[in-house]
Amino acid sequence: MSRYLLPSVLALLSLILPAPVLALDSSDFPLKVFISPQVRQNDPTAPLTPLSERLRESLRRGVLDWNKLLLALPKEPTNGTYVVVLRNDIDAAANAKEAEVLQQLGFLVLTEQKEEADLVVEGVDTFLLEGSKSSTEGAIGRFASGQGLDVGKIAISLRNSSQGETNAFQLRLVMLHEIGHALGLGHIKDNKCNLMSPTRYDCQTDSPYECRPGAPRTICVGISDRQLRRVESLILTAPGEAMPVAYQEMTDYSRAVDHKITTHLLTLPPLSQRGDVELQFTPTGALQDVKITKSFGSPELDTAMTTLIKSLAPFGPLPPDTPTEKQHLNFYYTPNAPLHAEIDQLRQRFTAQLQTQAIPSGGEIQVTINGKGELRYQITRTFGDSKNNLAAGRIIESLSGPLNNLAAKEQVKFTLP
Ligand SMILES: [Zn+2]
Repeated sequence: MSRYLLPSVLALLSLILPAPVLALDSSDFPLKVFISPQVRQNDPTAPLTPLSERLRESLRRGVLDWNKLLLALPKEPTNGTYVVVLRNDIDAAANAKEAEVLQQLGFLVLTEQKEEADLVVEGVDTFLLEGSKSSTEGAIGRFASGQGLDVGKIAISLRNSSQGETNAFQLRLVMLHEIGHALGLGHIKDNKCNLMSPTRYDCQTDSPYECRPGAPRTICVGISDRQLRRVESLILTAPGEAMPVAYQEMTDYSRAVDHKITTHLLTLPPLSQRGDVELQFTPTGALQDVKITKSFGSPELDTAMTTLIKSLAPFGPLPPDTPTEKQHLNFYYTPNAPLHAEIDQLRQRFTAQLQTQAIPSGGEIQVTINGKGELRYQITRTFGDSKNNLAAGRIIESLSGPLNNLAAKEQVKFTLP
């Protein structure tokens, strides 16, 4: 009898964990970009059409142009913005030669194999991309991270009105801008001459001469030293030390720092109470100080927490547009934090298995585990078909066991991936 009553006395913890964040390090470069040879139709039932060679070439160049931008970076940091001139007036043979040189520079490379791509680009035969409300930024290009890829997907609208086809030169610019997002750059506000300006990506300036207003057949793009250094810092980051790149604002940065700390909390002794910690950063993003503002239960725990956080620094440069005065971030961690970290590890192993088994992303599975490691799961969003759903369930079964930080009388419910 009491056996059947047991579930009602179990404490049920429901965890809402943030979506996994994208992180890149030196081992991810060169980034392999696949440009789909077929155009997706706005009407999903319509047959796919081939992407014209002219538009395909523009998209390819937009990818390779990033190698050119990275080359613009001088050895020593400056406060400046660089204007990079992209030419469209050279003949086809010279153009092809230049593309080949840029491909060999190898920060971003094109691949013909979709399976090995980190980033997939798709042209969409529409004026407004799905979900866009107006003819603004999101209407002509959109980057979405993840999607079963190391980096994500870019969708680009191939029409600039309900009738006209976007001109090829403009596509190249949209491509540059969206790749900027894929590399973790956010929008620059109030800056007309910047690639990451949300509305107008190209520049008209008096110098260099090719960028003067009305100059034909060139595009000039501005990009700041700070933006380029952020991308460079990804390329230089040692494997496994990556900070998520999907942050664009201080709140995202804060979440990323929190994520890095949380995943390492398992190395600490159990926290005996909720404590607060404040991290102070210099304007360049170096960790200046760690202060415990509310104790985690004992001086030993507080010291262990401080030592851990210091050992995890640096956390990467602050987002662009961060005010230059000193930045503080505050976090709290509860005795449940190690359990969160354990579940996060489970999530990462699950996602990796999905990729290994080539199960399409987009599905969702709700998992309940109790303190004895007993498991229940339910598919809450499909992984494509019943075969994939079954395979996803098998992965959960194979990965799950008792969670070290879950008390015998508790159970935990969470959603993957
Ligand atoms: Zn944008």
